[in-house]
Amino acid sequence: MRKFKTESKKLLDLMINSIYTNREIFLRELVSNASDAVDKLYFRSLTDKSVQLGKEDLEIRVAYDKEAGTITVSDSGIGMTAEELEKNLGVIAHSGSQEFKAENDFSETDAADIIGQFGVGFYSSFMVAKKVKVITRPYGSDEVSIWESNGIDGYTITAGTDADKPGHGTDVILTVKDDTDDDKFSDFVSEWKLHNLIKQYSNYVRYPIHMTVTKTRELPKPEDADEDYRPQYEEYTEDEIVNSMIPIWKRRKSDVTDEEYAEFYKSDFHDFTDPVRTITVHAEGALSYDALLFIPGRAPMDLYSRAFEKGLALYSSGVLIMDKCADMLPDYFGFVRGVVDSSDLSLNISRETLQRNSQLRAIAKKVEKKILSELKKMRDNDREDYELFWDNFGRSIKFGIYAAYGMKNEDLGQLLMYYSVRQQKYVTLDEYVESMPEDPVDIYYAAGDDLERLRNQPIVRTFTRKGFDVLLCTEDVDEFCLQTVHEWKDKKLKNVSTADIDLASDDEKKIAEEANEANKELLDAMKEILGDNVAAVQVSPNPTESPATLVTAGPMSLEMERILANVPEEQRMRAFRILQLNAQHPVFKKLVAAQADGKKSKLHLYTDLLYNQALLTCGLPIEDPITFAEEICKLM
Ligand code: ADP
Repeated sequence: MRKFKTESKKLLDLMINSIYTNREIFLRELVSNASDAVDKLYFRSLTDKSVQLGKEDLEIRVAYDKEAGTITVSDSGIGMTAEELEKNLGVIAHSGSQEFKAENDFSETDAADIIGQFGVGFYSSFMVAKKVKVITRPYGSDEVSIWESNGIDGYTITAGTDADKPGHGTDVILTVKDDTDDDKFSDFVSEWKLHNLIKQYSNYVRYPIHMTVTKTRELPKPEDADEDYRPQYEEYTEDEIVNSMIPIWKRRKSDVTDEEYAEFYKSDFHDFTDPVRTITVHAEGALSYDALLFIPGRAPMDLYSRAFEKGLALYSSGVLIMDKCADMLPDYFGFVRGVVDSSDLSLNISRETLQRNSQLRAIAKKVEKKILSELKKMRDNDREDYELFWDNFGRSIKFGIYAAYGMKNEDLGQLLMYYSVRQQKYVTLDEYVESMPEDPVDIYYAAGDDLERLRNQPIVRTFTRKGFDVLLCTEDVDEFCLQTVHEWKDKKLKNVSTADIDLASDDEKKIAEEANEANKELLDAMKEILGDNVAAVQVSPNPTESPATLVTAGPMSLEMERILANVPEEQRMRAFRILQLNAQHPVFKKLVAAQADGKKSKLHLYTDLLYNQALLTCGLPIEDPITFAEEICKLM
């Protein structure tokens, strides 16, 4: 009995007692070793003419024996000599082993981290097996060697055995641990489980993975069967290749149909809607990788909930490393699904070591760039698809802009689309600017919760009457996003209800100024009646069709105030409101008359009504609807 080297021993202890939840990866590790061994033999055949290989020389097989409680992973690869067994399986053969030695003490909870960092390959068998036996025969040799271990005491190697091993290659036989109250290890010893694990983790391994599978078929109907004969079935077994081998993302784009991509998307990412875009990348050179990305045709229900997990599946040469690598996607592209495969990545990247991996970061950057450029292409060449995309995921982009404090304005701002009142369709900010007959001073938008209501707002109508376009924003994130963008192509983005917007002509301004002067007492009285509700009452230089409108000064708009209304009272912020009156409106004359006649209660009533009316036309709730209703009755 040989002892494991100290560091291997520590790791083995961890494996055996591990609480690592992802035990099932043992099969992936063994299949990946098998595939490497077949690779080695194949590469030798390329340079060594004496190595002549047939198809059956390049295979992997997974088998199980329920009674014996064993799982066997066999390959017809290069095999190992007894010396190689000692060298390869007696000690952890990893670059990380030096660092590993440096760690003296670690708890069980570190297991996942250690497994991730050092990659335990073959040793992971001990997470599910109480005994592991390796029978191996090198290519071109008659000598069969056996390595055996229960993980705890050490291992034995027997060279030159007469074990029954007709072909070259290696069999790894695991005797699965006994079931405990918490763990049913015997579950692994089943066709269903093994089949699923191969499909899940090793579907794209280059060599065929065979399994004997059980199927059922209908027995032929006997000739003398009477009327109430029921079909009879029998079970039979058949050799099947479980993995699909060539990953769809490795195939040339021209060889794959749109339907095939869509099918792959739907089956792998559990969606029933075709993707709206399929993006392929084949990169070679300093960084080589393949990526296959999808923009879903609909937003998943949980997209904006905590339960949603973004990420791309990560493969290293066809072997799955991680099914949702979050670091591959920025949050604002979190809706993208897909796969990245790179031979430059090691199998043993864990969630913990991800951030330190510079290759991965470099790939993620490229992936992000590619998604952005594809979205722009779609925006320019395929508006219908783009609108569908925008409908589904525009919110993610807007949040992205807002959350990046302006760092992403340039990139993501190009993706923004809003409904244009003038053009009666969704337009980008560039299109807004381009469509204006003259160079617009600013870009105007109105924010509220309903497109129709916004379109009919008196203030929006005033803008369009004067020849300006207005973008309509109906999502709560919109105004926060647009304020972060702040300006586009040197034009400021402004809410139409902002007091400092200067649409009025000099004449209009002069008239308003004079009216303000002439009616100072009236305006002061109205301000007093309204108290803290408004900061000022004035005559509008830019009147709408209605007698009164609310505008705001400062960064906070009425719509933002409405959205932020759910925070506790003391943190609530109020927009700086200004009530602007239309001096041309007949109602204004009534106000002037009430003031002149000294009819205080009448002025009070009118002022209240006008203010509440202005609130309603802005889509805001009025504070006291009952009094408002009573006041209307008084008038009638
Ligand atoms: P890794 O595969 O990451 O190098 P493992 O612990 O899984 O680490 O395996 C250690 C070594 O044992 C491998 O590098 C390989 O040389 C050898 N080995 C493992 N499995 C096989 C196999 N099925 N056939 C041939 N060699 C193998």
